[in-house]
Amino acid sequence: LRAPDTGPMERMLADIHEAFRTDRSGKVASFIPELATADPDLFGLAVTTMDGLRYRAGDSDVPFTIQSVSKPFVYALALRDRGTDGVLARVGVEPTGDAFNAITLEPETGRPLNPMVNAGALLTSSLVGGGDAAERFDRVLTGLSAFAGRQLTVNERVFASERDTGDRNRAIGYLMRGAGALRGPVDEICEVYFRQCAVEVTAADLAVMAGTLARGGVNPLTGERVLNEEHVNHVLTVMATCGMYDRAGTWLFRVGLPAKSGVAGGVCAVLPGQLGIGVFSPPLDEVGNSVRGVRACERLASRFALHLLAPQ
Ligand code: GLU
Repeated sequence: LRAPDTGPMERMLADIHEAFRTDRSGKVASFIPELATADPDLFGLAVTTMDGLRYRAGDSDVPFTIQSVSKPFVYALALRDRGTDGVLARVGVEPTGDAFNAITLEPETGRPLNPMVNAGALLTSSLVGGGDAAERFDRVLTGLSAFAGRQLTVNERVFASERDTGDRNRAIGYLMRGAGALRGPVDEICEVYFRQCAVEVTAADLAVMAGTLARGGVNPLTGERVLNEEHVNHVLTVMATCGMYDRAGTWLFRVGLPAKSGVAGGVCAVLPGQLGIGVFSPPLDEVGNSVRGVRACERLASRFALHLLAPQ
């Protein structure tokens, strides 16, 4: 009896899953106490193509909180609501050598350096349209769901855990408010941001979200246009330069795709015009990127020659 023939992508994902499944390096994040309970053995990967084909391996349907992987998508929603100039006036696009939660602003302009560090993400989230915090979060959740092609929900335990321990983000908020960068009550702005970070996704969802960016803003599953192409271009640019914490340069060198990672172990990467990749595995390296997530993407990019800057 012959095994059913699987395509090269399916085989590749299964191979990659097998190759790194037993790699126990890295540490599960613990600065948000609820995240420390994650199972370090979880490892799922998924790919979504432009025509909506979906490939998966391992724990690709296990939910986890999106954390910082929300940042490029909420940046997208802010661009949609305020336009490019409206957002650029308030948040820069320069990579920073500082940690993601550093308390720094651009000296000349007082803007946070970019939307992928917490300062920029808090500000970006405050730019999403809505009369009050509840309305703004509603818009964030609806927007993230449109990228994923299904209704997403919040993990209330992770949200509460983050709210109880999020003083550093509040400090960043007050600094920005003092500098005139952030407008509005810090507590409300942090609440929306903490909720946004606690939205639950799976690796399969991240592949669809990345796939929506890859398809120029149109969700490959639902066909809905979530974002216009000019804004997709801006989002992919900041992902390429600032998406992978303090390893954005190494990542672009090795993998060559715009990407974003989060402290719960999610990684999403975009090959424009072709596919979206989602990986989930909780143990993180010393800068906060999922160890298996990075290795899986490196392997996938090298086997399928995905590096965007490689000679054609
Ligand atoms: N909610 C986390 C924080 O703001 C997100 C961190 C991350 O994923 O980088 O501290």
